[in-house]
Amino acid sequence: MSTLQGIVLADVSVTFVGATGPVHVLRTISLEVERGTSLAITGPSGSGKSTLIALMGGLELPTTGHVCVAGVTLSCLSERKRTQLRRDTIGFIFQTDSLLAFLTSLENVEQQLALSGRPANRTACAELLATVGLAAHLDQLPDTLSGGQRQRVAVARALVHRPQLVLADEPTGSLDATASARVIDRLMSMHNATGNTLVVVTHDGAVAARLDRIIELGDGVIVGDTAQRGPFRNQR
Ligand code: ADP
Ligand code: MG
Repeated sequence: MSTLQGIVLADVSVTFVGATGPVHVLRTISLEVERGTSLAITGPSGSGKSTLIALMGGLELPTTGHVCVAGVTLSCLSERKRTQLRRDTIGFIFQTDSLLAFLTSLENVEQQLALSGRPANRTACAELLATVGLAAHLDQLPDTLSGGQRQRVAVARALVHRPQLVLADEPTGSLDATASARVIDRLMSMHNATGNTLVVVTHDGAVAARLDRIIELGDGVIVGDTAQRGPFRNQR
């Protein structure tokens, strides 16, 4: 088992200094996610889900403890190296899409590919958008698309460099059931095709049920950890 190539959190805590004293958002969490696993993170609002997934992407650093991704301890990297690792190795999808408003769907995806340092490939970007049902919307600006369409552009952006780790923080939180299913279907098909590690924060039990393992957070600690199947067995 190549755990080291997956995600390892060792005694991780996150504490913010609030106006009324310290806020303990995550309290001494340890967690190993084997490479190739699909993991759901669930739990009530305010339980620390976004903070946990931000740690996995190096967007947040732990107050104590260590986070290792793909064999690298994130807090040991300079800000520049961390950004580089994120661009090369990780695809991040937020609850509301983070598209660039002045670029078309196609340009948004191309821009992400360029950021990751890979050669330009307009055809591949257009094909990826077609697989999320947006072939007819390549030249539209984000504010002319529906919420579900924008989120599918965001998915294409996150997947275009075929990252080994895909992190999605409530990617379907603002979508209806049909749009939500399309977004999850695409994340799952890329997961099944590439064996990437996929982490999805979700309130939706039907989404969580499709993933290998479910972690439940409660008030900054892991209160549930259920393996539904082994990682990446290609049998969904
Ligand atoms: P969830 O995603 O499960 O709703 P979060 O990880 O966003 O939870 O937040 C957990 C707790 O941490 C919340 O009480 C939130 O107010 C607090 N929190 C998050 N970020 C900060 C911050 N930058 N400063 C202070 N408190 C924060
Ligand atoms: Mg959140």
